[in-house]
Amino acid sequence: MADTHVKHLLIGGGLASANCARWLRESGGEGEILLVGREPDPPYNRPPCSKGYLQGKESREDAYFRPDDWWAEQRIDLRTRTSVMKLDTAAREATLSSKEVVSYESALVATGANVRRLNVEGAELEGIHYLRALGNADHIRTDADGKKVVLIGGSYIGCEVAASLVAGDHASCEIVMQEAVTLSRGFGEAAGRFFQGRLEEHGIVVHGEDGLARFEGADGRVTHVVTERGKRLEADCVVIGAGVMPDVMLARSAGLALDEERGGLLCDAQLRTSAPGVWAAGDVCSYDSRPNGRRIRVEHWDVAFNHGKTVALNMLGQEVAHDVVPYFFSDLADWASLEYVGPAAGWEREVVRGSLEDGAFSVWYLSGGRVEGALSVGRSEDLEHARRLIAAREPLGDDAVAALGALDADLAAL
Ligand SMILES: Cc1cc2nc3c(=O)[nH]c(=O)nc-3n(C[C@H](O)[C@H](O)[C@H](O)COP(=O)(O)OP(=O)(O)OC[C@H]3O[C@@H](n4cnc5c(N)ncnc54)[C@H](O)[C@@H]3O)c2cc1C
Repeated sequence: MADTHVKHLLIGGGLASANCARWLRESGGEGEILLVGREPDPPYNRPPCSKGYLQGKESREDAYFRPDDWWAEQRIDLRTRTSVMKLDTAAREATLSSKEVVSYESALVATGANVRRLNVEGAELEGIHYLRALGNADHIRTDADGKKVVLIGGSYIGCEVAASLVAGDHASCEIVMQEAVTLSRGFGEAAGRFFQGRLEEHGIVVHGEDGLARFEGADGRVTHVVTERGKRLEADCVVIGAGVMPDVMLARSAGLALDEERGGLLCDAQLRTSAPGVWAAGDVCSYDSRPNGRRIRVEHWDVAFNHGKTVALNMLGQEVAHDVVPYFFSDLADWASLEYVGPAAGWEREVVRGSLEDGAFSVWYLSGGRVEGALSVGRSEDLEHARRLIAAREPLGDDAVAALGALDADLAAL
């Protein structure tokens, strides 16, 4: 027998759950909402953890999804520091870490992702950090102050943290990464070289085509990073950004179907899982992406945000497919900002529009003549056309591809 009954149970205290709660209310949902999150903070935006919050320019409250009193005003029962330990989808019941048993009519699994940990020699030394939560950012800011910091990983976490620490005059930074060029795995070499140039201009040293071999330390604290190519870099502090893994622990134990190939909790285009009345959203979710006609899993702020809304509408019986083209943004301090639309996937060809030298360009990623994604630095207006072309899924002819790269060609005509 359940202790509590709710109409909507939202599992996970991140952005996807929070925005689902918001849209349930904004779309006229009147039923009880219980949002259960493991972290001590109420739902917040993670991007500031590597940007303004890390630099000390934004407060904790600035990062919060909503002010503290909003939750009660909206009649949303927010339980922080609480986990859902067990989900019984047949009985439609969940057991919380407080031992309370909650029955529900519809549930959202938005358990997010956890950082990928690197288990090399010395990994247990003090001064080695990962970054996922506000608390991690607090520790990094205190620990990195005035020190030599080595970032492991050349994707956006490593690059953003290096930029934030250097711009805020907190530390000097070096990056060690497997790829030859920063950010090139996600955005290709042309754009990657542009971003690496910005980092190097500000004194950040980049060690490409190298990997982490081990850490060395003294008195229990890290002192050096040793690379696979034999470099031995001084390091008073290390931040590792080696990607994330979807948190499917609860979903797996509940017997929900998983996407074994991509990782993540398997969903259809309406973000329904394999169990009736259970949806998924955000970083944990591997879903049928309507605009791309492919199954994808992406860890982007905007995707978690929009997933939350789609699930709310479906919980209220509207039967909507998630048809938003994924969008991503990243800032390297105030040195450079990028925006990207499209699924994170491979591509065969890149076309650059505009000038890399002037820092105003877009890069178009094509496979089989189709536009699969586009990146903009200072040319946001191009992304509207990119969204349309990605959704259309029509292969472009040679003239149209040439037009993508010609500034005097009208993208609206494509
Ligand atoms: C430092 C950093 C910077 C970022 N910057 C950008 C950026 O610039 N642009 C961008 O597009 N994206 C960015 N992202 C990614 C973006 O923040 C994520 O995609 C987004 O937060 C995903 O939201 P989510 O709700 O799906 O998951 P999460 O934010 O991971 O939230 C899930 C929550 O559920 C909790 N949980 C897990 N299991 C349980 C359980 N059983 N019971 C209760 N609670 C549970 C977790 O503890 C977590 O708090 C950044 C991420 C990080 C870490």
